[in-house]
Order: sequence, then C-alpha cells, then structure tokens
Amino acid sequence: MNLLQVREMMLFTAEKMVESEPELTALDQVIGDGDHGIGMKRGFAAIIVLLQNPNFNAIDFGDLFNQIGTKLMTSMGGASGAIFGTFFRAGGKSIAGTTDFNAETLSKLLNDGWQAVYQRGNAKPGDKTMVDALAAAAKTATELTSAKLTDALPKIVESAMQGAENTAQMIAVFGRAKNLGERSIGHKDPGSVSMAFILKYMNDYLQTA
Ligand code: ADP
Ligand code: MG
Repeated sequence: MNLLQVREMMLFTAEKMVESEPELTALDQVIGDGDHGIGMKRGFAAIIVLLQNPNFNAIDFGDLFNQIGTKLMTSMGGASGAIFGTFFRAGGKSIAGTTDFNAETLSKLLNDGWQAVYQRGNAKPGDKTMVDALAAAAKTATELTSAKLTDALPKIVESAMQGAENTAQMIAVFGRAKNLGERSIGHKDPGSVSMAFILKYMNDYLQTA
C-alpha cells in the first residue's frame, strides 16, 4: 500500500470508530466510568477532520501516523487518549521513511507501538487493558512478516479479537475497573475492544480496496 491508500484506510477506520461509540460506551459503563466510547468518538472525529482537510499533507507513513497519534492525544483526554496517542506516534516513528505499507511495516508499527505503550503505562499482557489485544496482534504480525498484507491482516485481526475476548477472564489492575477487583471478571476491557476494532476496520478497508 502507498501513502494515499493508507491515508484512505485510516479515514475509513476513523469513520467506523465513530460509529462504534454506542458499543464502546456500553462496555465502559459496565466496567469503567462510561466515557470510553465518547472519548474514542471525539478522537476519531478529529482524525476525520484532519484527513479530509484538502491541505492535509504527510511526508511519509511516520508523519501520517504521528499526526494521527498527536490528534488523539490532544482531542481525547483520559487514559486512553495518552495510550492510543502513544501507540500511533511511536508506531509511526518506527516506520518513518518506509515507502511500502506491507506485513513487515505493520509488524513494526504494532511491536514498537506496543513497547511505547508499555513504557508509558506499564500494563503487561494479562492486566486487562488494550495491551491484551495489541500484544496478541503484534505476536501474530511478527510470525507473518513475509506474508502478503491481505493474508496477514485478517489473522492479526483474529488474534486481536481473541485478545480482547480473553480480557473478560482477567482481573483489572489499571484504571477505574481496578476498583471492581474480581467483579471485573466476565466483562471485556473497552480499550482492548477499541484496539481490535481499529485493526478490524483497517482490514475491512484493505479487503475491499
Ligand atoms: P479513563 O480510564 O480515563 O476513563 P477511557 O475510559 O477512555 O479512559 O479508557 C480506558 C481504557 O484505557 C481501558 O479500557 C484500557 O484498555 C486502557 N488503559 C487504561 N490504563 C492503561 C494502561 N496503563 N496501559 C494500557 N492501556 C490502559
Ligand atoms: Mg473510562
């Protein structure tokens, strides 16, 4: 994929994330303070404005994802603004200068983005956060770097979705869900579902493009 195609993919993803607000809100109402869907909607609505601006310019994938991450950070607020903003900014930085967005590029974005999220928020796999979806996606991506992106991304999405599903069995140790302790069991972490959705919508675009 070239820069224009990736930009279109992220615009489609942003539109779908805005549409997902009710589902994400419902999840955070059970386990958090109910603002996750609204925060994501605000962040991705700002990305739609950014990417639809006729004057928008990105010099490479690094710049594109850095601008996306910065927009999330400055428009969302809350824990997830910093977390998802960090993911895109650091992930983008690691693929700066790359000219083809392929399975290897995506693997780098996911793995380096994950490391930065860990440095920022200290959540490990199993802590019931978006990291559970991200780490699962990054691991699968690492195994598929030589596959075609159209073959790799559906499997990465499957892993991320499974990672999000698995959070229902975990006890929260971060954010407001932490106060629920064992009562957080049985409910999925909203941020992990957002992470899986982002990848799912990227794939939905890729498969129809
Ligand atoms: P807030 O917790 O400020 O209300 P949101 O509701 O928007 O923010 O986002 C909560 C989500 O952020 C959680 O579902 C979780 O996935 C993610 N999250 C919270 N803390 C961390 C962390 N330290 N590392 C990674 N993700 C985190
Ligand atoms: Mg919340």
